[in-house]
Amino acid sequence: LTIGNLLQETAAKYPETEAIVVPYQNVRWTYHDLDLRADEMAAGLLALGLEPGDRVGVWAPNMAEWVVLQFATARAGMILVNVNPAYRLSELKFALNQVEAKALITVPSLKTSDYLAMLTELMPEMAKATPGQLHAEKIPSLRWVITLGNVSTLGTKSYESVMKGATVAARQRVQDLATQLQFDDPINIQFTSGTTGRPKAATLTHHNIVNNAYFAGLQMKLTDADRMCIPVPMYHCFGMVLGTLCCAAHGATMVFASAGFDAVAAMDVVETERCTVFHGVPTMFIAALDSPGFQDRDLSSLRTGIIAGAPCPAELMKRIMNEMHMTQITIAYGMTETGPISTQTSVDDPVKRRVETVGRVLPHTEIKVVDPEGRITPRGTAGELLTRGYCVMPKYWDDPEKTAKAIDEARWIASGDIAIVDDEGYFQIVGRIKDMLIRGGENIFPREIEDFLYTHPAVEQVEVIGAPDEKYGEEVCAWIKLRQGHTCSEEEVREFCKGKIAHFKIPRYVRFVESYPMTITGKVQKFVMREQMAKELA
Ligand code: ATP
Ligand code: MG
Repeated sequence: LTIGNLLQETAAKYPETEAIVVPYQNVRWTYHDLDLRADEMAAGLLALGLEPGDRVGVWAPNMAEWVVLQFATARAGMILVNVNPAYRLSELKFALNQVEAKALITVPSLKTSDYLAMLTELMPEMAKATPGQLHAEKIPSLRWVITLGNVSTLGTKSYESVMKGATVAARQRVQDLATQLQFDDPINIQFTSGTTGRPKAATLTHHNIVNNAYFAGLQMKLTDADRMCIPVPMYHCFGMVLGTLCCAAHGATMVFASAGFDAVAAMDVVETERCTVFHGVPTMFIAALDSPGFQDRDLSSLRTGIIAGAPCPAELMKRIMNEMHMTQITIAYGMTETGPISTQTSVDDPVKRRVETVGRVLPHTEIKVVDPEGRITPRGTAGELLTRGYCVMPKYWDDPEKTAKAIDEARWIASGDIAIVDDEGYFQIVGRIKDMLIRGGENIFPREIEDFLYTHPAVEQVEVIGAPDEKYGEEVCAWIKLRQGHTCSEEEVREFCKGKIAHFKIPRYVRFVESYPMTITGKVQKFVMREQMAKELA
């Protein structure tokens, strides 16, 4: 099944079901509407002169047009390139050049960013170019800049006019492509979060992501009666695969609360739209639980969702189940390169498993846990997690070297994560190899210390890293964000740990912070924290 065919099937099955609701844009489209729009836009893009296989970047926050473009580019056989809306010029240039994008679709301007002004600064040529004839020095492959809405300026073409430009011939071509496109054609390039360094351009096929979206929905028992609030960004696979594509695979409704993540707006929309599903990375759930007026909300419609992307502390899971009414919340684990998930808990798993593990391997996927020599470890013993199956990307775009480093000849992809699997096949993620710290020869995974510190009543969020130390190599350092109205001292934190965790795991340094260095996906960048501590201690 291709992405285009998937939407067609769902639209035929649930034509009148709401596909997408975006209150802040006044949008309410049924699956029938979405299907028509995707067709028109696919034909519009082909009528412009773009061809199957061309890379088309989308640089915009969550909005209804994003979803149309997701399906339209897939139907036209083009490769959608998700560009982080928080990227600024140097990152944008890097991303578009890396994939030699032919078109870029963006919002003219938003409260937070003036995208058009940034583009004009990067490519002054744009102001004089006829749309389609752009030859910019900084991004030589780029021919088109399309702006969302109906106004075009400065060598751009408007989204509405592209859609209106669909010709009879182009529409016919879309129909022909529906039977010609192959399920293993690359269809999407997504950049990894950049938690450990520079983002990598994971190249995904229809097959990779359609199936992943489908299986993720099964674990949640998603149906056409479900309404999913999607606060996770569309430019990342969490929003685009586990969010919108997962809804399309099961006939559920996609709901966007706001362009960028806003905890209050997200909770508002859950209430007003009676959402049953809510996705997020752990920091988003923390923000929601801590948002003003949270206690007075009626969240009784909520049932399930996915939490993923970073370690999900057991204490947080309990709060989500009890305070957010999400008794059937699932935890998923994966990476952009595996389209994205390879394990997930199921609503049928016992609560203990759903709180403490990332679930079992998804159907048609294999996982092995190996020691540094590549030998499979006995169950219960930690090792690096490797994945194989339909979900594994074919490659990093235009980077055979990085691809070969990540995927071996037998098609196993290395995750860089340390995991333990138990006798019943449930996985626990111990931490990233790169985040492990070694203190005086002891391997320490921050996760363990974080989980313990979360049991302290004053702690809202805690992130543990290694700080350089002359004597021990590294020392344990905890950055703590306190709950509102609570106080706590460094000494109190250490007292709290004494006798309860091994002495060498007790944080030597405690810093109280208001926020953490983060990726736009909401993940804490520990490498930035480490750099900061190293500087401070130097
Ligand atoms: P980069 O590869 O650019 O450094 P990244 O690995 O964070 O960034 P993603 O592909 O978005 O980019 O995230 C995948 C990673 O997120 C996994 O390798 C794992 O470390 C972490 N992760 C995902 N889900 C979970 C989970 N449920 N529990 C713990 N960690 C998780
Ligand atoms: Mg990664």
